[in-house]
Amino acid sequence: MTQPLQNITDLTLKELQQALSTLGEPSFRATQIHQWLFSHRAATFDEMTILSLALRKKLAESFSIHQLSAVTYQECFEEGCENPTQKILLELQDGNQVESVLIASENRMTGCVSSQIGCPLQCPFCATGRMGFRRNLTAGEITGQVYALNDLVAAREPGKALTNIVFMGMGEPLLNTDNVIEAIENLTTRNYRFCLSQKRITISTVGVIPEILRLAKSGMKTKLAVSLHSADQQKRESLMPIAARQYPLAELGKALSEYSSSTGMPVTIVYLLLRGINDSLDDAKILARFAKTFLCKINLIDYNSINNSKFKPVYSAARELFQQYLMNAGLHVTVRKSYGTTINAACGQLATVGIQNPQ
Ligand code: SF4
Repeated sequence: MTQPLQNITDLTLKELQQALSTLGEPSFRATQIHQWLFSHRAATFDEMTILSLALRKKLAESFSIHQLSAVTYQECFEEGCENPTQKILLELQDGNQVESVLIASENRMTGCVSSQIGCPLQCPFCATGRMGFRRNLTAGEITGQVYALNDLVAAREPGKALTNIVFMGMGEPLLNTDNVIEAIENLTTRNYRFCLSQKRITISTVGVIPEILRLAKSGMKTKLAVSLHSADQQKRESLMPIAARQYPLAELGKALSEYSSSTGMPVTIVYLLLRGINDSLDDAKILARFAKTFLCKINLIDYNSINNSKFKPVYSAARELFQQYLMNAGLHVTVRKSYGTTINAACGQLATVGIQNPQ
């Protein structure tokens, strides 16, 4: 049986340079091809008219090009919002699938992208965690999700494009940092199609300490969100056992403090409110104590149900008391609206196997 050709969009720029050097081509050719793939979104080598016919032929003999596009698509309208939330399912070259979401709010078109297929951290409240872990996504597959979401934006309003990107889809981005950073470079490089400001990109993590410190030193200007869900070590371990044990709160607090002081940017603490579990005023008190040790803002989110889950969303009265306590403590607190719950597109609901809440 003949092996399928390697998908060239799975190569990083460095790997592309090595591949071109093996073909006896200078390194600047790799830069040109990279731009054709990740800026012009070429689907065939014949489109790369800047290359000689001979090189295009040589490339087609060694590689395939698999650009992602949506295979299925669902949408739902939120109350009072004229633009729908849209979720797409994308098929990767190896047959694996991944989900991404387009969230339209007042002035923003936000693409929520995945960084892994499944997730190794297995937080019990999350559909992705229940899928198990299959593999990291390549930088090309992450970039491809952004393009596929942007297709939806362009179909709605020709000439418009995504304005923001959040790494809040399937997987833990800071367990795939190299590819996430490479994808961010594809999306922020000057003269490339998107050319987004790094400040419009948010990386959301459970708190992978060494990688937070790496970002702090990198000079990148992307935003950081940390899923905390409890400021009590024991309780956090019951909610996110693998992550909380591996990255204890005391050390996480120090890393976040280093991050905010070296970047000058606040960290967003994401706090998923779960009824009767982490929504008491005592929980708010310890959260306030933790959050006051570094520059941050707090984002409270409601739980979005998944199949066979013991967790329940908080009552709105309890959420208001919780928020008020934090605000009285001098903290900046917002409540994040959930988008796409009826199509299993909201936080913690993405999964490409049947774990989600039946609608
Ligand atoms: S919440 Fe995030 S880290 Fe936890 S299992 Fe889900 S995707 Fe992974």
